[in-house]
Amino acid sequence: MHTFEFVRPPDSAAAVATAAKAKTAQQGADVRFIAGGTTLLDLMKLNVETPGRLIDINRLALDKIEPTPEGGLKIGATVRNSDLAHHPAVQRDYAVLSQALLSGASAQLRNMATTAGNLLQRTRCMYFRDTAMSCNKREPGTGCPAITGSNRMLAVLGTSDQCIATNPSDMCVAMAALEATIHVQGPKGQRAIPIGDFHLLPGSTPNRETVLEPGDLITHVTLPPPVAGNRQVYLKLRDRASYEFALASAAVVVTVAGGKVTRARIALGGVGTKPWRSPEAEAALVGQAANEASFRKAADAAMRDAKPQSENGFKIELAKRCLAHALQTAATS
Ligand SMILES: Cc1cc2nc3c(=O)[nH]c(=O)nc-3n(C[C@H](O)[C@H](O)[C@H](O)COP(=O)(O)OP(=O)(O)OC[C@H]3O[C@@H](n4cnc5c(N)ncnc54)[C@H](O)[C@@H]3O)c2cc1C
Ligand code: SF4
Repeated sequence: MHTFEFVRPPDSAAAVATAAKAKTAQQGADVRFIAGGTTLLDLMKLNVETPGRLIDINRLALDKIEPTPEGGLKIGATVRNSDLAHHPAVQRDYAVLSQALLSGASAQLRNMATTAGNLLQRTRCMYFRDTAMSCNKREPGTGCPAITGSNRMLAVLGTSDQCIATNPSDMCVAMAALEATIHVQGPKGQRAIPIGDFHLLPGSTPNRETVLEPGDLITHVTLPPPVAGNRQVYLKLRDRASYEFALASAAVVVTVAGGKVTRARIALGGVGTKPWRSPEAEAALVGQAANEASFRKAADAAMRDAKPQSENGFKIELAKRCLAHALQTAATS
């Protein structure tokens, strides 16, 4: 591993000021915050990330889970994934988030992984993680060997001719269905970013994954107040039962009244280049009978624009069945 300086700022303002000296907050950043380290240290050992300076944010006061004045939930950036998953308010009001977190990684990793780190975890595309290979995300303009190579795990929604990498997070999929907001403290002050606007599609700049700029520190995430009577399910399909990323997953938050779906929030994982909220599936579902036929129509709508690659066409039907099953489970829960 290359050498780097390790700094422990006394507060968030000092952390932001130090990080603001970075050239970018995207791939190739020369200054990085470090939280649990479960993504960053892996990538540093592989020489995919080579920051000259690491800013330890673990001692900043960003580790609380608190109610918001509006009746929602405020989740600090360094709250560990395990603490969040087991928090009583999350289990009671945001079960889809708890289920998504507990389906990810392993117990040991969840004890280290943080809320902000999970939001910013990088793709598991094997070419991205191997510096002997070309990769537009790691080195813009070098090409995307995955398009003609090994792409079984990669995305079918939101891809471009420059990059087809999947966003691997489970937590983000649940947060997309819960309409979370990400709060950032930057050199120019605070801002709040809806999760749907936080991650970027690869387009012609796959090296740019989020809207973050140099110095931007995620301080917390807020969830809106829970909707009375809604039903929530996270379903994750993968090659083995634990310690594996999703081939397809679905987060559903639905309200059913009088046998009809009156409200639906739907997001998919494992199939998109970003955590994939599906307004198409939501529109297809609301007002319809809460039955198998409607769920299948919603799933068809969600995957209508999917573009298969040589090895991952199976994900389209898999994601449809995943979503339909998650909706059925939620409706009958
Ligand atoms: C073997 C393995 C299996 C896994 N399986 C799964 C899985 O099934 N599902 C899943 O969802 N995830 C999985 N993960 C990923 C895991 O969830 C992430 O590695 C973890 O959430 C990252 O959090 P962290 O705190 O360790 O981040 P770090 O590694 O500390 O940081 C990650 C990135 O976030 C940045 N960062 C951290 N905090 C902030 C902040 N407050 N503001 C701005 N930038 C910040 C860092 O600079 C870095 O770029 C797996 C990981 C491993 C190693
Ligand atoms: S899919 Fe994206 S991350 Fe993977 S090799 Fe292509 S450009 Fe790189």
